[in-house]
Amino acid sequence: MVKVVYRYGHRIGRDKRITTHVALTARAFGADGIVVDTPDKKLEESVGDVVNRFGGEFFIETGVKWRDYIKKWKGRIVHLTMYGENVMDCIDDIRKWDDILIIVGSEKVPGEFYEIAHRNVAIGNQPHSEVAALAVFLHLLTDGGWNDKKFEGVMEVVPTERGKKIRYNYEEILRREGCSKAVIEHCRKVAALAMEIARRIGEKGRKIDMDAVYAGAMLHDVGRARTHGIMHIVEGVKIARKYGLPSKILNIIKHHGGAGIDEEEAKKLGLPPGDYTPVTIEEMIVAHADNLTGYRYRKFRTAYAMFRMKAGKKAALKMKELHEKLSEMAGEDIDNIVEKLKSKRLVK
Ligand code: SAM
Repeated sequence: MVKVVYRYGHRIGRDKRITTHVALTARAFGADGIVVDTPDKKLEESVGDVVNRFGGEFFIETGVKWRDYIKKWKGRIVHLTMYGENVMDCIDDIRKWDDILIIVGSEKVPGEFYEIAHRNVAIGNQPHSEVAALAVFLHLLTDGGWNDKKFEGVMEVVPTERGKKIRYNYEEILRREGCSKAVIEHCRKVAALAMEIARRIGEKGRKIDMDAVYAGAMLHDVGRARTHGIMHIVEGVKIARKYGLPSKILNIIKHHGGAGIDEEEAKKLGLPPGDYTPVTIEEMIVAHADNLTGYRYRKFRTAYAMFRMKAGKKAALKMKELHEKLSEMAGEDIDNIVEKLKSKRLVK
């Protein structure tokens, strides 16, 4: 059964929040899309943004006159109104229908709605709200089945008793943003190495946010979907921000270039003014795991030589310092960690 909601009487400005809530409720409770009478690009964008991040196939169309839409609609129509017949008396019949258009209003609706609707349905005969009416109607229509819908978005809320937990599908973000297979493979490799370095350092008693290391490593090069130049750092931060990722992750992306780019170097490279030096342990780990990873893992010696040629002596020495610092924290040379990872995972 295709379920589409028609939102009548949307007033830009005044109904911004409530129409957004009608749309989000329609999506969350299992409708396939929403059509809104008044053109509203901002509304389309904010609903589109939720769909983009949280998944599902939900569509939104605005600026569609109700007469035009209904003329084309092949299925049945339900009009939700406090004046209608009680939902409990008709929901069993409605469940047997094929496609269904659910009309909700804002203020007074045209009298014709009562005529064109196959059923005028009341969610109790008290006045309340289109959001509540729609939620209860969709709940009853799907017999609670809306709750089993899988959205498969890049973001997923993990139910927790207290606090907030969101799980991200980082590979899906890389794919959606248009990163090449090679970039995705590189990010996977950097993440595997960064996690291994973090684990070793963690074993020595240092507190490390492993989730941040993984997220930052997976996304450090997401900006390469836009450019392979140095600006991929800035683009990457922008993309990650769009997904609402915390500043901890944004900073890993921002500070991952080499062993860090100071203000002076940033100026020379044409980056927006600022210091791009890794500060936290998570930032240092990802930056260096990246230094030791191309299409394959490389030894520090090789990375150092490459870096010297590409970025100069000062930058290469900074990388050496970072390698030594992390090796000391891990209690062994990072090159050994790479070797062990290669033999354990059979990666090249
Ligand atoms: N007097 C209006 C009416 O026709 O129900 C109330 C307007 S209400 C602010 C906006 C929308 O909420 C209505 O167009 C209707 O779709 C929905 N609504 C409000 N109360 C409802 C109820 N008890 N049952 C079904 N829908 C309701």
